[in-house]
Amino acid sequence: MTWAGLLKDFPATMPVLWFSFSAATAIVYSILHFTSKRKKASVEFLFSMALLFAGIITALNLAWLTPVYFPLVVSASVFYGWQTVVPLSFLVMLLRLKALFVNPELLGEEIAFSASLLLTAVISSVILDRFRQGKGKDYAALKTIKHADEAITETDMDLIDGNEAVSHYFSSMLKADEEIKELLLAIKHAVFADSVNFFVPHQSASSGGFTLRCSTEEKGDIITIGKGIIAECFKTKKTFYSGEANKSISEIGYIKNKKVSSILIMPVMDSYTLTGVLTADSPIYHAFSEPVRNTMQMFAAHLVRIIERERIYPKLERDYNGLKILNEESSKLVASLNLNVIAEKLCEGAGKIASSHAFFFLVSGKQFELIYTTDRISLHESQTAGNKTIFDLKGAFINIAVENRQPIYMADMKDYRASVLPFSAEDIRSIFVIPLIYESKLLGLFVMSSGKADFLDTFQMELLKVMCNQAATSIANAKLHAEIEKLATTDGLTGLLNHRVFQEKLSEELKKLSRYSEPTSLLLADIDFFKKINDTYGHPSGDLVLKEVSNIIREAIRDIDMPARYGGEEFAAILPRTDSKGAMNIAERLRKAVMSASFSSDTSQLKVTLSIGIATTPSDAKTKEELIEKADEALYYAKHNGRNRSVLWNEIKN
Ligand code: GH3
Ligand code: MG
Ligand code: MG
Repeated sequence: MTWAGLLKDFPATMPVLWFSFSAATAIVYSILHFTSKRKKASVEFLFSMALLFAGIITALNLAWLTPVYFPLVVSASVFYGWQTVVPLSFLVMLLRLKALFVNPELLGEEIAFSASLLLTAVISSVILDRFRQGKGKDYAALKTIKHADEAITETDMDLIDGNEAVSHYFSSMLKADEEIKELLLAIKHAVFADSVNFFVPHQSASSGGFTLRCSTEEKGDIITIGKGIIAECFKTKKTFYSGEANKSISEIGYIKNKKVSSILIMPVMDSYTLTGVLTADSPIYHAFSEPVRNTMQMFAAHLVRIIERERIYPKLERDYNGLKILNEESSKLVASLNLNVIAEKLCEGAGKIASSHAFFFLVSGKQFELIYTTDRISLHESQTAGNKTIFDLKGAFINIAVENRQPIYMADMKDYRASVLPFSAEDIRSIFVIPLIYESKLLGLFVMSSGKADFLDTFQMELLKVMCNQAATSIANAKLHAEIEKLATTDGLTGLLNHRVFQEKLSEELKKLSRYSEPTSLLLADIDFFKKINDTYGHPSGDLVLKEVSNIIREAIRDIDMPARYGGEEFAAILPRTDSKGAMNIAERLRKAVMSASFSSDTSQLKVTLSIGIATTPSDAKTKEELIEKADEALYYAKHNGRNRSVLWNEIKN
């Protein structure tokens, strides 16, 4: 209307009407322009100002002011893109059509004016656009990349030691959100976008939805719709760009409270997988040229690296912690030669790798003894022999690992109907069984069970296997140690304590005695006419008799008594907390048992008798040497008074 009025010469004929209308238009557009902060657009504002200016020229007949259009176009291109400045120069041409109607000879002049104005607009736009791209974008990009480099070199491993370096490393990884935000801001400045957003697939990725991971805008400024072009981009993995998007704003996939005229939607690809979608929008039409889009592509590649690091680091951290536990727990396993301690440490260490129930079985002949468990299990009376809990694994699921000598993992046993363990345990959903093997010998079985399905991942299983391997070595060591100790303390033929240990035990017993003032008795037993057995039936038969007599001694005495092979065919037994009367009872029981036993050698039945001497401390003797001497005297007395008898030292004294 303003323009039509201008053509009709209203500024000169109806100045009040035209100028008030024109000024009002200019004011409205300038208010809209400045309040909405859309300084890079508002063609409307510029046009209304240009019309007002043209009106002034015609009304006041100031033709000499016409060249002012040139600096006007140049200064407009400082603030506005070519998309605004070029149409502006066309408008100026239209404004000047009126002059042609009045004076057609001016055509050549007008063409020259219009062409030079248009050329000025184009040249100034191009120059200033270059300047903007060169300075603004590259500088911003450079700043971000420099910053990222600094962040990496900051973690200088050589300067920080061990654990500190590792924890520093891991804490720097947790700043992914900050890093992404910084990168998005850098993109925003580089491509002159109004907002830059990064969308990622929804947690439940199968649903196909997506959420806003990070944005240059304040929280709540960008509202994800979850459909539209972004959803399409997640599916097709193709870049989308529109320079005239306002018609399809709701179809983008998010809404914001500002106008969107240009929208760039770009998939962020990690080789062939999509990590997310990057978007940039602008209220300017045709805001993102091809070079700008390429710039954004470059930033997307950087974003992939951040996401990749973020994904890998928690795994690295977990692996590191796992290995740390393994290192600590393995050294605990190595430190002990006690089977119970090894079992306990293995179960506890495994509990640090995966929180679930652990069971430790040791091979006991063809059966398995449960040494330790972190689970509370209720056992049948038939399953406990003394204080031992021994099981036959036949029929239980875990026996598969025993038969195959291989670890076995069942992620979900929901539908397994038979028994899993040889005793009833609460709902086992998944189980990991590791046979403990040392030098191809099965030593035991380690079991972990959980009420949850698939409670272990591959890394945890590897850690547990290494730990069990360590445990198997420790068990083998403990067994070897026990064997060596047995060899050093017992007599090879009879299995009774040897002379050295007998002496030690007797000393210990006498020390205890001085504290508790309870009597201790010593038996010395000698087989009668043993030489004859050897001479008649041979040495092997003699050995057999020694073994059988040893067994009878073991059975005849109590658990607290300590039987020993004193030498040749002489035996000793330390009887703690026993006076001479009690000792005599035990001696007689033993003597009668030997007397009534017969031992079968290859050729015949052998029978022997025992002579036994008894001394008691403190009544008969005070020191160890004295006690042995007195018992020996009593034995000598028995030998010379008919043999096959038990003699108390205090009786021969009288
Ligand atoms: P008594 O004690 O009744 O006076 O007669 P004895 O025949 O038992 O007496 P002596 O102490 O002279 O003989 C002990 C024999 O025991 C001598 C030795 O050959 C035999 N002897 C010692 N140690 C062993 C052994 O380990 N195996 C066998 N077969 N014989 C042994
Ligand atoms: Mg003898
Ligand atoms: Mg003898």
